[in-house]
Amino acid sequence: MARALRLGAAAWLAAALLATGCTHMPAPVRESRPALGTVVTIEAYGTGKAALHAAIDAAFAEIARVERALDAYSPTSTIAAFNANPYVERELPDEAVAVLDEVERLGVGAEFSCALLAPVRLYGFGATPTVPAPDDLTLAVAAARGFRRPTLTTGVFARLRTPDPRLEPGGPLAPGLDFGGAAKGLALDRARETLRAHGVQAALLTAGSTTVTLGTKPGGDPWRIGIEHPRKTGAVMAVAEWVGDGALSTSGDYQQSFEVDGVRYHHILDPATGRPAEGMQSLTVAGRISGLASDILSTALFVRGREGALAYARERSVSVWLVDAAGAVRSHNGAAGSGVRIEAAETP
Ligand code: AMP
Ligand code: MG
Repeated sequence: MARALRLGAAAWLAAALLATGCTHMPAPVRESRPALGTVVTIEAYGTGKAALHAAIDAAFAEIARVERALDAYSPTSTIAAFNANPYVERELPDEAVAVLDEVERLGVGAEFSCALLAPVRLYGFGATPTVPAPDDLTLAVAAARGFRRPTLTTGVFARLRTPDPRLEPGGPLAPGLDFGGAAKGLALDRARETLRAHGVQAALLTAGSTTVTLGTKPGGDPWRIGIEHPRKTGAVMAVAEWVGDGALSTSGDYQQSFEVDGVRYHHILDPATGRPAEGMQSLTVAGRISGLASDILSTALFVRGREGALAYARERSVSVWLVDAAGAVRSHNGAAGSGVRIEAAETP
């Protein structure tokens, strides 16, 4: 299927979740469907299987709606229409406004940029891995910096002073918006609200690298989410645990990457340079936050780097588990009262 939002599909995570399903409670209704460039799994607890199935259907419809708005790689999405003419001020879809506002609220605008479509494309992740020519990257990054929001709901890219045909609409370096770093979180939030509106008592929704939960499982057991080792595919190195609503996201240099001459090129770019952010193998954020916030933060704190990420976690009381470039683990658990903890997995 299309790699719609160009996000790694951490299929292992869904598997880990299913394995942790508890034994002494009514079985949830569980469905997995392709969406958001990966496989999304929803498991819902409550009474009445038919009602749970109907709620899950509605939740997947909501995910599809967000995808139709934000998937820059689908030619029929709202954001693709915006990107087709980036130098003309236009209304942005509500979903894009929600992401841009949240980036500002979280204070991570230097590390999280929704305008990196052209720089990301230059690497050709998946299809044709390429190390971009430095000049191309410089130009694409300069054009990306031209994104403006003249009003709260409109957006436009400013033209660079020196014209270049490659920056023209449809050209290889034409600027564009890419919500791949946040769309999963937003889509899962919206799907969770749909489940809640349908009266679902408890649910877990996962798109691999982002997971959100709703309520408390019958019996009160905590949600348990495995965090993958960035260098041992499928190995769970840590487990996050909480009861009630919460969210968790992981960003990793292994999710979309290729190697040339011993150098790893991965899909999380430093907006300042357009080069893959250095210093981190993977970073997980979890807390009593929205899926959107966790998705934005895992990407942004990956770029911010180890000490900056830990400082942010302490200030904002979120939990962070990171593996730095040398493979060393550092972590911080948010305020004790938040009840969201990430601990090393027990080795078998
Ligand atoms: P995630 O897996 O959530 O960390 O998101 C990574 C995806 O977000 C990439 O595949 C790009 O599409 C996009 N992206 C890359 N770097 C950034 C960045 N610094 N800020 C926002 N989005 C980014
Ligand atoms: Mg993200």
